[in-house]
Amino acid sequence: MSETFDKFQSVYRRILRFQKISVLASWDLYTATPKLGFDDMSDTMTFASSEAFALSNSDEFFGLVEALNEPEEFAQLTTGMQYTIQKLKTELEKSRRIPQAFFEELVSLQNQSMKAWTEAKRASDYTLFAPYLEKLISMITQKCAYTDPGKDTYEVLLDQYEKGMDSATIDRVFEELKEGLLPLLRKILAAPQPDSTAFDGFYDIPAQMKVQDLLLNYIGFSLDAGTTAVSEHPFTTGFSRNDVRITNHYYENNAISSMFSAIHEGGHGIFEQNVNPALQNTAADDCCYMGVHESQSRFFENILGRSKNFWIPIYAQIQELLPEFKKHSLDEFCREINHVQNSMIRTEADEVTYCLHIILRYEMEQAIFRDHVPVSELPALWNQKMQDYLQITPSNDAEGILQDMHWSDGSFGYFPSYLLGSIYDGMFLETLEQDLGNIDEILASGQIHTITKWLNEKIHWYGSLREPKEVIRTVCGKELSAKPLLDYFTKKYTEVYHLS
Ligand code: ZN
Repeated sequence: MSETFDKFQSVYRRILRFQKISVLASWDLYTATPKLGFDDMSDTMTFASSEAFALSNSDEFFGLVEALNEPEEFAQLTTGMQYTIQKLKTELEKSRRIPQAFFEELVSLQNQSMKAWTEAKRASDYTLFAPYLEKLISMITQKCAYTDPGKDTYEVLLDQYEKGMDSATIDRVFEELKEGLLPLLRKILAAPQPDSTAFDGFYDIPAQMKVQDLLLNYIGFSLDAGTTAVSEHPFTTGFSRNDVRITNHYYENNAISSMFSAIHEGGHGIFEQNVNPALQNTAADDCCYMGVHESQSRFFENILGRSKNFWIPIYAQIQELLPEFKKHSLDEFCREINHVQNSMIRTEADEVTYCLHIILRYEMEQAIFRDHVPVSELPALWNQKMQDYLQITPSNDAEGILQDMHWSDGSFGYFPSYLLGSIYDGMFLETLEQDLGNIDEILASGQIHTITKWLNEKIHWYGSLREPKEVIRTVCGKELSAKPLLDYFTKKYTEVYHLS
């Protein structure tokens, strides 16, 4: 390797180490740090991330990246390093166009805005948050004008989370889905509903933790290369394919919540644990596309985990660990985990209504950045859309427009990734069944590992090397469509709800 590459590597490895320390501190903050230690640990996290930021934004480092981007140097790099250099070059060129004073003002606004949102949500008073939201929209628009001059703001925002998935594509698939889903949902909601209170009971938390380990092992998450902890909201953090950490949150009166969080985060974790080891310590060694990542957690959680056949090989073991489940047959349990109802809160929604929660947010973001709807009119627009899609109206802003934290720090353009993940899943399911045969039979016969292996080989192995549209094209051999997801919903819920 060249002298330039050696120089680059020595700085880049320092950056990666500082980033790891920062992520480690953040993991600790959310899983272990006592209340009184919070400020000190936060300070450590900020220090490490500032060091990484300063190193990566130095002229020296940018010069090395540019030099390695020259054809003769570039040709000598591994695939993972070529990806790294191209990504760094694009990102650094963008961030170097943002004036320092503007950047600092934005960071400060983001901090104030998050505080204002927390207070506004607690008091259910949108007016406390509105002035910050208005300023954020204006500064984020300006930031996009610096990083991507001449480009449409909302396209720039979408691209940050799901590269290449432009709004024309998203419009097309979301419309396709909405058109098919609304009539199906109306039929489901008119049908008799199960009684969820039948599952109220006491579920021992150490036993729920054993169930988590059982489920993780069952779906193929390695506890030799992974660990678990408890946090307020479940999340996944990956340091490398050999050290992937997931969290869960347990409720004594509800075991189903932690079971599905385990499967969801386990799905994210399996992705990280199965990236090609040759990509380690490059920017491609995990998946940076939110929709593709989410497609894997949701594939395990919904497509596999909400199928009766997933539970056939393990339900008796779960009944032994959590005796409350002995009161319920496998059929009753499966009826409960596929209970569709129109509810206010996105994070508590079932897999069908969830789609409409996201479409609503996507349309809201377009109203903000394309139609420039005034901030004061956004809550009414939100409530109107809830009524149109889910036939319910929030009684206050805390259960309406203030419910999610995403917009509080300016993370606009993130929401569509969640639903894109499910749309990809419809396509992956169709292809997987063409390759391996009927998924119900595979699951019922205890062969879930063959499905995990298929996902490992087709998707996880490549880390970030392939952009989302390329993943779909190479894995499924066709362009993105919402039809397979709609077919899955229609087939499944016609059966679950005995629809005609
Ligand atoms: Zn997720």
